[in-house]
Amino acid sequence: MSRSKRPLAGSTRPSDEFTLYDLRIEVVATRRKMVCNHKAGDYFELSGENLRFPASQTFPLYPLAALLPLLPAKQRETHPNDWMTTDLDIACPDPHCGGRFRITRTGRRTFRHGEVTVVPLPAPRIGRRGTSR
Ligand SMILES: [Zn+2]
Repeated sequence: MSRSKRPLAGSTRPSDEFTLYDLRIEVVATRRKMVCNHKAGDYFELSGENLRFPASQTFPLYPLAALLPLLPAKQRETHPNDWMTTDLDIACPDPHCGGRFRITRTGRRTFRHGEVTVVPLPAPRIGRRGTSR
């Protein structure tokens, strides 16, 4: 799964690889009743840009909409002191619902810049220290 981050032997171009975490988002119960159409154990997964739901399982729209903005940040490496690193549970956006959603990093996947965008990487800067302002 993880490939070398070094350039290929004989290559002068740096690698265009980067990694993202795969995520699993699972419904966890609290003492409060869940009022939405989700139950403990329901889940979906995110790998790269692809959401994957188990066959025959639904997931309600409003919690999904609340979770989506957090997922790209959770996919990326975050500072150890950042709450985004330490906090796993997100509350359901329905204030009457006791549901929580646990976001777990399940693995790392390597991507290549050139395979996910047509925007080129900036040219390597050579010997121009201190002239970037
Ligand atoms: Zn809910």
